[in-house]
Amino acid sequence: MHLKPLRRGARPALTDASAAPPAALADVPKRDLRKRLAGIVDRIAARQTALFAEGKRALLIVLQGLDTSGKDGTIRHVFGPLNPMGVQITSFKVPTPIEAAHDFLWRVHLAIPAKGMIGIFNRSHYEDVLVVRVHRLAPEPVWRARFDMINGFERYLTETGTTVLKFCLHISREEQRERLLARLDDPEKNWKFNAGDLKERDRWTDYVRAYADALRLTNTAWAPWYVVPADRKPVRDMLVAEVVRDTLDRLNPRYPAVGAEARQLRAILRKD
Ligand code: ATP
Repeated sequence: MHLKPLRRGARPALTDASAAPPAALADVPKRDLRKRLAGIVDRIAARQTALFAEGKRALLIVLQGLDTSGKDGTIRHVFGPLNPMGVQITSFKVPTPIEAAHDFLWRVHLAIPAKGMIGIFNRSHYEDVLVVRVHRLAPEPVWRARFDMINGFERYLTETGTTVLKFCLHISREEQRERLLARLDDPEKNWKFNAGDLKERDRWTDYVRAYADALRLTNTAWAPWYVVPADRKPVRDMLVAEVVRDTLDRLNPRYPAVGAEARQLRAILRKD
């Protein structure tokens, strides 16, 4: 089963039901899903090496989702096995004073992957139309104007050699409750618990509305959104990995061919 991009102009439902794994994958044992993922990740790794060697294009992956939706876990499972030299991960937090003193895309542009790299955003410029909207950190005309700015920015990126993929990891309210409880119950997960997460949970419907609008208004031909049913972790990872693999297959990065100078050097070295 391959995840399709959100239909252009559509407002995603983001209901609890749509967070459940697709029927075809719901009952596949975890071990089998992890085995399939390993095969996909091997292919991503091979393509990543070629992308790096080619050094001409970049891939940007945006991960968004409510607290506990699995942004960190997706990064670990899908991108963890890659050569770290070719991967750049950026987590976007509450803007620092220097970030806040600039336009909202300033810190984002600084984190755009260089040619040859895969960049992963753990949260992103979308926070500026999500948390900012839900918590009224800026007036509506300010965050509303950002949708067009984001579309223009992402278009500019794609036209200058960066492919952009955007994933919204979508979990149900019940799954979030269980994951938050696990953070409280499991000593190895305690560090992840943040009392603020409960306040955010209270704003669930506000966030769902903000996400649905943001996805609809920024779902472009050049930077599509994928809504990932994320209640089951190994399914989530596999669905994301498949899209990344297919995108890299399409980009088909090439190892640079040996030029005339290298051929001469080889002749010299052979005789040495
Ligand atoms: P995770 O993303 O894995 O859940 P976290 O929520 O614990 O991690 P934090 O250290 O709390 O990560 O930092 C992320 C916080 O920063 C989020 O609450 C997010 O909404 C907030 N944030 C990110 N960008 C902005 C922004 N532009 N304006 C205001 N808040 C922002």
